[in-house]
Amino acid sequence: MSKRITHWVGGKPWTGPAHRRGEVFDPALGTVTAHVDLASVEEVDAAVAVAAAAFTTWRSSTLAKRTQVLFDFRTILQHRRDELAAVITAEHGKVLDDAAGEIARGLEVVEYACGLSAQLKGGFSESVSTNVDVTAIRQPVGVCAVITPFNFPAMVPLWFTPIAIACGNSVVLKPSEKVPSAARLLAECWAEAGLPDGVFNVVNGDAVAVNRLLEHPEVAAVSFVGSTPVARHVYETGTRNGKRVQALGGAKNHMVVLPDADLEGAADAAVSAGFGSAGERCMAVSVIVAVDSVGDALVPRITERMAALRYGDGRRRCDMGPLVTRAHRDRVASYLDAGVEAGAKLVVDGRQGRPDGEDDGFWLGPSLFDEVPTESSIYRDEIFGPVLSIVRVPTFDAALDLVNASPYGNGAALFTEHGGLARRFQNEVQAGMVGINVPIPVPAAAYSFGGWKASLFGDTHAYGDEGVRFYTRGKVVTSRWPQRSAPRAGVDLSFPGHG
Ligand code: NAD
Repeated sequence: MSKRITHWVGGKPWTGPAHRRGEVFDPALGTVTAHVDLASVEEVDAAVAVAAAAFTTWRSSTLAKRTQVLFDFRTILQHRRDELAAVITAEHGKVLDDAAGEIARGLEVVEYACGLSAQLKGGFSESVSTNVDVTAIRQPVGVCAVITPFNFPAMVPLWFTPIAIACGNSVVLKPSEKVPSAARLLAECWAEAGLPDGVFNVVNGDAVAVNRLLEHPEVAAVSFVGSTPVARHVYETGTRNGKRVQALGGAKNHMVVLPDADLEGAADAAVSAGFGSAGERCMAVSVIVAVDSVGDALVPRITERMAALRYGDGRRRCDMGPLVTRAHRDRVASYLDAGVEAGAKLVVDGRQGRPDGEDDGFWLGPSLFDEVPTESSIYRDEIFGPVLSIVRVPTFDAALDLVNASPYGNGAALFTEHGGLARRFQNEVQAGMVGINVPIPVPAAAYSFGGWKASLFGDTHAYGDEGVRFYTRGKVVTSRWPQRSAPRAGVDLSFPGHG
């Protein structure tokens, strides 16, 4: 009998029967390793009810208590990070070092949340009117749904949940059904850290669970990360049901290389950001925009580095692992034919390599296209795999126009030693996260993560200050305490001024 991965509700594993189940694969082996429960509407309702009940007391917990839980959570997560990395590699396929990297970036947000009492300070104005003071406070919003994609099984849940919890909310996390085990391990860490039962819950599932969370009257806020069509659906449905929603979508990140750039560094960056995690990163570089003749110098440097990459089982010290499912591998591989048909030059064909892994793994080696037409599907679509495209343009302005014409606006990078053009790029580029000689500009935890255009629906980015604003709402209290010695103002029907 295969392992069963079930929900986590009220501080313990769910004990009810599973009415629907999904298969969980080890992508490097190509075999089913577990079955995950797919929640029904009733199961989602049960988790939300538990979270709503827990919120009534957690919202009033002291800042000292919350801080203690956050610090303990951090310690426990640090302690279990190898175990967590192994779980991520076994279900996602990314190599162990990369899994450790995503945990480290998630821990940064936990550390930010450890200091959240400073962010939750309110405001106070004395004597805005005679004997009248004003106090501004921020309060938690209630039950927060966090819906996450397959590609960062630990980091993306950690972008949201520590901040939501530190702000006094309760959480129902719906992780990707492809990679459910990391969420379960995080739940165990919260419980071990002394978080009261019901403040952090996990429901596993698919669109049924997501759609119920979007409609449930007791869910106050929804944080979503995933593909653009689903992000749009989540935003529209959630807001129609009166919730605050931040929905981060897909990406097609461009890296512009100018002729004056450090070309060795640019080639390193292109290969690292193009093929890290097999291109299954929302911040992956998928298009190199080579300005003027720089493409001629870049192609040999990139191909030389690609030839040195080892891909295979993430537990065998390879550089790059398999794709997450067989269907996704086949979809990504189909773009190699589509690119050739569209007239692009296939410089490296990832179907021809040999992986260091079992035959049935979901393998596809790194591929490189040059001279990619911008009307082709390999340029327009988010491929989300190890396929790097080079588009050649004559000038910096043409490069900037190309980046800005993209419907996506997650990240964009520029490689140059020209300060003036770098400054123009940073000012004019239509993207939420910009790298200057940095290929994957994921903001540090005190800032916020989010794209523009079809890469984010809503107006609030993830974590940092914007995360705190999302998970709290403002209240302003205007107060007057009667002064026995002062005369009463008496009845006055005019609109109160601040005299
Ligand atoms: P996905 O959109 O298929 O799934 C994301 C979540 O939505 C999962 O929990 C899934 O169960 C749920 N879901 C899927 N289809 C649904 C539907 N029809 N209705 C309701 N819920 C549904 O995304 P994925 O394949 O898991 O992840 C890859 C995508 O996520 C890529 O497009 C990538 O760019 C994006 N991503 C974006 C960011 C970002 O910060 N912008 C970060 C990571 C990943």
